[in-house]
This record gives sequence, structure tokens and C-alpha cells, in this order.
Amino acid sequence: MSEVDVVVVGSGPNGLAAAVIMARAGHRVRVYETASRLGGGAASAPLTLPGYLHDVCSAVHPLAFESRFFQEFGLTDRVRFVVPEVSYAHPLDGRRAVLAYRDLNRTADELGRDGGRYSRLMRPLVERAAGVADFTGGSLLRIPPDPLAAVAFGLRSLEQGSPAWNLRFRGEAAAALVTGVAAHTMLHQPSLSGAGAGLALATYAHARGWPIPIGGTQAIADAMADDIRAHGGEIVTDHEVTSLDELPPARAVLLDVTPRAFARLGSGHLPAGYYEAMRRFRYGPGVAKVDFALSEPVPWADPAVTDAAAVHIGGTRAEIAASENAVERGRMPERPYVLVSQPTVFDPSRAPAGRHTLWAYTHVPAGSDVDRQEAVIRQVERFAPGFRDTILATRSRTAVDVARHNANYPGGDITAGVPTLPQLLRRPVLRPDPWRTPIPGVYLCSASTSPGPGVHGLAGWWAARSALRHEFGVRETPDLSPGS
Ligand SMILES: Cc1cc2nc3c(=O)[nH]c(=O)nc-3n(C[C@H](O)[C@H](O)[C@H](O)COP(=O)(O)OP(=O)(O)OC[C@H]3O[C@@H](n4cnc5c(N)ncnc54)[C@H](O)[C@@H]3O)c2cc1C
Repeated sequence: MSEVDVVVVGSGPNGLAAAVIMARAGHRVRVYETASRLGGGAASAPLTLPGYLHDVCSAVHPLAFESRFFQEFGLTDRVRFVVPEVSYAHPLDGRRAVLAYRDLNRTADELGRDGGRYSRLMRPLVERAAGVADFTGGSLLRIPPDPLAAVAFGLRSLEQGSPAWNLRFRGEAAAALVTGVAAHTMLHQPSLSGAGAGLALATYAHARGWPIPIGGTQAIADAMADDIRAHGGEIVTDHEVTSLDELPPARAVLLDVTPRAFARLGSGHLPAGYYEAMRRFRYGPGVAKVDFALSEPVPWADPAVTDAAAVHIGGTRAEIAASENAVERGRMPERPYVLVSQPTVFDPSRAPAGRHTLWAYTHVPAGSDVDRQEAVIRQVERFAPGFRDTILATRSRTAVDVARHNANYPGGDITAGVPTLPQLLRRPVLRPDPWRTPIPGVYLCSASTSPGPGVHGLAGWWAARSALRHEFGVRETPDLSPGS
């Protein structure tokens, strides 16, 4: 008899989600993880000074409340979250910052003459936020569970993702707000899937907000790991899997790895056509990340920015589009788009009393080894004069460092594969069940599969449900709720 029923390779949120489901279904599960710390992109560590806890990768969790997996798992009963009133802020030169409140009306009121236009863009989506989450939370080849939400979402993505994107707004503020969130995707601005992902994130910003976990993002991964262990599962860290042949015999294997890595792990087992599709999977630009320990909160020129879960730095829509498109073409912009969060405003437990941390990253050409610390500081300083004087310590990582830290981010691409529309449809192959591979019993479950990047666990959820159906003949998802 074999020692395990199910092997999971990789302990990112998707690998852990898959392991939770398999352990809950009564199977003996073992997870292998290269790193010493479990969690993949959902991890926290003291990166600067003793007593300062930083999120190594993800920090703000727009998808935590919207993910069907996390809802079934009862994440909010297991991890405490703060939900700031302002989901994101967008500072602009020489004027008040633009704020995306959870309250859509308040957001629109502060947008002046574009308020009504912004409201008409967002309201149909916010009113059908669950439908938007359902549509974008799985393979796009499914029939949308809420067709009205899908149509409203599709039409608005077409508008904001086309060269006609400027027709809606008259001023800079609302346009910057929309582009600031679309730029999370690292895609060309404007582009259809960039607009789509941005509108989905904006929808959640005005629906349930963008939550921040107390104790750092690691709390999310730890909640899943605790559940796996409570149901008999095992997590083996410091263990890189280099070939499928070295795994113990199991009825199902779920791989939280990229297609390129799968081509290597499954070498000799994959049909030529599928192997080539894995090798051809495209990766996008990278990120360079800077973590800060600060003596005081960031001195934003507009103090209202302090209350935001995230801050989108980069100026106007035109300026962000220019810098993002330069990165896409392999150039390093002088004034880059920078994503910032100051979690200690909401969770003081992460730093000594009165002190703060700042999480920041910026987009860079794929595989860049350029240290972007100074460029990030200059951009923050642009909207927070005096910021430099608050810095006690920094930890800067280039895109090469990010890739070295986690094999799922080739060249520093934290989306684990460029999320253009063709590659969202084909993630990683054009099939209604893209998680199932041609190797019997083997499934892909990383962010390189549908529905794509973010801490939501949904790729693991879909892959595990496919494995339960095909390998164990079980069609029902087990009860995942706490205490069951
Ligand atoms: C700097 C940064 C900021 C981000 N910010 C956010 C954010 O604020 N909000 C958000 O929702 N998302 C954010 N993300 C994205 C998010 O972290 C990822 O989309 C998410 O973690 C993907 O989950 P995953 O399980 O697919 O893969 P990952 O979380 O990347 O985990 C994969 C795991 O598999 C392990 N692994 C890979 N190959 C092997 C092998 N052969 N053997 C053993 N183990 C292996 C890796 O070591 C890793 O631990 C960010 C990512 C980064 C890097």
C-alpha cells in the first residue's frame, strides 16, 4: 500500500487550497515545498529590522472575500481582517488625491463632474459583484453563472480596454483611478484583459473592500496549513521536487508550478503537442520590490492617503500608460508606476510601537537585475515630501531576486504568465478543464492556470475538484467549513 493518496507540489495559496480539499475528502495528503517557509506568495517575514514583519509578496487581498474557495473555507472565521474605508488612493501632482472608498457614492461625489460617469461605469458591476467574481473566478470557457453580470463586465472592459477609453471622462481624476488599478496586471494600457482585471478589482473595492489580514498575509497560508494538518495532511518544506519520477506513488498529483516547470518535471511523460504548449507559455514583465522600516507613517501631502489599503503611484492615466508600456517594451521608466501599502496603519502589531512598515513594488522588464530602490523612494517622495527622512532600513529585491525566491515567478513575473486575453482563455491550454493534464492523475493548479494570479486559491479549488471527480469518482466538494 502506498504511503499517500495525493501529492501536492508547492505550498502557495493554490497548492494549499488543493491540499485542503483533498484532505477534507478523506485522502492522505503530502505537500512538498522548496522553501523553508510555507505559503509561496502568501508569506510574511522580518525582512528589515527585528520586530518589523513584512509581507514577502502579497499584502492586500481584494480576492479574499470574493473567492468561492475562501467563502466555503470560512476564511473570515479563521483569520482576522481589517477592511479600510478607502480601498485605494491615487495621488496626483498639485491637487488632492483621488480615493476609491468602499462607498461608491462617496467616491463619485469626490470625482466632481466625472462622478456620474464613474458611477455609471461601476454601479452595475458593484450591484452584481458576486456575478463578476463567478465569471472571472474560473475558466472563461464556461457559460457565465450570471450572464447579466458577464455582459455588463464585458461591455465595460471593451470600453476601458480600447483606444476609446478616454471618451467617458472629462478630467484626469477618474481616468487615473481606473488606470491605477488596471495597471496591477502589468499589461499594455489600454488592453482588454487589463481593463477587465482592473474593473473586477475596482468592483470588489466598492463591494466588500480590500482587506488586510491581521498578523500579515502569512496568516492566510497558516490557516490553510493548519486545516490540512488537522485533517491528517503533511507539509514537507525545504524539499524541491525536480521530477515527477521522484514522487511517492499516489492516485493524484497536483502541481502548483508554472507550465515551463511542468515541462521539466514531466519530461519524457508528456505528449509532444502538450509539451510544446507548456514550453510556449508566455511570461510577462517582472517586479522589483522594496520593503521599508519607517520611524513614522508616510508623510503623504494629502493625509487622506494614509487611510487607504493600497496606493497607486504614477500620476495621470497618460503617465501610467507611458511608463507601463515602456516596461512592456523592455525599457526602464524614469518615473515608474509603484504599488504601495502601509499595513501597520491598520495592524500595528507588525512593528514596534509608533513605527511602521511600507510594502512597495514596481514593474520592470522581465529578468531585470536593476535595483529600483531609489526610483521607488523618489516616486513616494513626489507625493510624500520628507518620506526619505522616515526610512530606518530597507530591503530591496530585483526581479532576478524575486524569481530566485520563487520558481513560479520566472523573470520576476508575479502573474505566473502574462494574463492577456488569449492567455486567459488558454491558461495553460484551451480546454474546459485546463487543470487536467495528459499524464493520468496529474493536475496543474498554479496561478498559471485559470483563473490566473492573486491570492484566491481558486486554481487549486478547480484542480482538486477535477481530480476528485476523475481519480476518485467523487462529484461533491467536501464540506470545508471551520469546525467540520
Ligand atoms: C511582490 C508580490 C506582490 C503581490 N501582491 C499581491 C497582492 O497584494 N494581492 C494578491 O492577491 N496577490 C498578490 N501577488 C500575487 C500572488 O502572491 C500570487 O498570484 C499567488 O501567490 C499565486 O499563488 P500560487 O499558489 O499559484 O503560487 P505561489 O504563491 O507562487 O506558490 C508556489 C509555491 O510552489 C513552490 N514550488 C514551485 N516549484 C516547486 C517545486 N518544484 N518543488 C517544491 N515546491 C515548488 C514555490 O516555492 C512556492 O512556494 C503578489 C505577488 C508578489 C510576488
